[in-house]
Amino acid sequence: MAAQHELGRDWGIYIDGQWQSSSSIDRIQSISPSSGKVIATVSRGNTADIDRAVGAARRASKAWASASPFYRAEVMIKASQLIADERDTLARALTDDQGKPLVKEAYDEVDELVLYFSMAAEDAKRQSGTMPHSVDPTRRVLQYRVPLGVVGVISPWNWPYTMGAEVFAPALAAGNSVIWIPAPSTAACSALLVEVFVEAGFPEGVFNFVTGLGAEVGDALCAHPGVDGIGFVGSVATGEKIAYRAAGKKQILELGGNGPFVVLEDADLEKAARAVMDASFLCAGQSCTAGELFLVHKGVKEEFLEMVVSMTKESINLGDPFSPETTMGPLNNEACADKFDEHVGDAVAKGARLVQGGKREGGLPTTLYAQATILDSVSPDMLIASSETFGPVVPILEISSDQEAISLVNRFGFGLTSAVFTTDLARGLAYAESVEAGWVNVNASTNLWESHLPFGGRSGTLSGRGRVGGTSVLEAFSEPKVVILQL
Ligand code: NAD
Repeated sequence: MAAQHELGRDWGIYIDGQWQSSSSIDRIQSISPSSGKVIATVSRGNTADIDRAVGAARRASKAWASASPFYRAEVMIKASQLIADERDTLARALTDDQGKPLVKEAYDEVDELVLYFSMAAEDAKRQSGTMPHSVDPTRRVLQYRVPLGVVGVISPWNWPYTMGAEVFAPALAAGNSVIWIPAPSTAACSALLVEVFVEAGFPEGVFNFVTGLGAEVGDALCAHPGVDGIGFVGSVATGEKIAYRAAGKKQILELGGNGPFVVLEDADLEKAARAVMDASFLCAGQSCTAGELFLVHKGVKEEFLEMVVSMTKESINLGDPFSPETTMGPLNNEACADKFDEHVGDAVAKGARLVQGGKREGGLPTTLYAQATILDSVSPDMLIASSETFGPVVPILEISSDQEAISLVNRFGFGLTSAVFTTDLARGLAYAESVEAGWVNVNASTNLWESHLPFGGRSGTLSGRGRVGGTSVLEAFSEPKVVILQL
């Protein structure tokens, strides 16, 4: 009979193929953002745990790196099947720990997770080398990629499964051993995920999992001399610290964004307004690709605003994330909710008009339920325009031309995703080519992405460095090697 996987317990850490006790007796409570109840406890790991995990990963790394990619792919495929088998359990744990609506969103995250494992397996099998010419005809040259060795992965709480797996699945498939540290506020569902997929048969020490506070275990992992590469998904502020602490190691940094969403005067307004529902309210706005700044041409602003207000009233149902009717759940944690209050308050104080929402909804089990919020007359000096709010907000700033939109987007320094709505595709392409962003959607929400395509912030912006998605991340966690054969 298959093992029963349950979220509610005291979780240890997973090192060297075994669940173990942390060296620390301290615990972190996992509190459901929707009910306020303690649903599990996880270990508050420490530097001794990181030393142990890195030691196990180093011991395992040579054999895993030199194993056939077809064998590694087989283990990854088995892991994806185990996850698919536990789709319901994992989706419910995600809703409980993260707060996202079960029916509308949590199942989708588990399905995408399956895809990350299977895609990494397929990509690993197809990695190949070349045989470039030598200057000397008596030599033969082999050029191919080798894994880095030990990779540390640190992930956020907004997409607790996929944001870790988009990095560690390809890192594993490429032949690295891994230590994963999830965000503390979604560490319990992450532990459950680990329990499900490690049964695939990873050799001991190839995959390790430590929970704890980022400034403690995360920092120790980044600075550890036994770690060769770091994959980090999280905020700009933490990314900057990690870039420094992990200096000299290969790094992927997937950081924040503010998803500028432009509506030009020739746009299909209904289509654009429909896309706002997804851009601003998916995961209650807690998505790095969320639309958080709406630059709308003055000629259509009033009509667009009216449409967005009526669609929000009609389609956004804030409440219990386990209820099938709910389309938006609570924010994940108090720090995030405080930022929502601060940014809305700052905007109103500086002259924005609060059209709808703006508060935490009363009469619900916790104070984390932020209302779907629409603000008009937003200006560039407001926090809600210039930084990442990470909440369910639609801040509208009026523009007069395409060029004004492009200048504003490039001014705030983020470079992750952007969207433009226009019926003229040439105009849409001109916008896409002029904004500094790693990804631009023409006539689709900022929250539209496809997992097999390279995703990440444009170099030189606040949004990070490197790409995840498809074979890009396999390349990030491997490096070229040249061998010359003198005949
Ligand atoms: P965060 O930076 O606070 O935390 C992210 C992770 O880093 C957590 O696991 C945390 O424990 C750890 N951490 C914290 N301090 C650390 C330190 N000093 N050293 C090492 N690790 C440390 O971010 P968050 O609030 O969890 O997540 C939200 C942020 O993530 C947003 O800015 C969002 O845009 C970003 N994000 C980016 C992407 C992307 O692909 N670009 C995807 C999802 C989320």
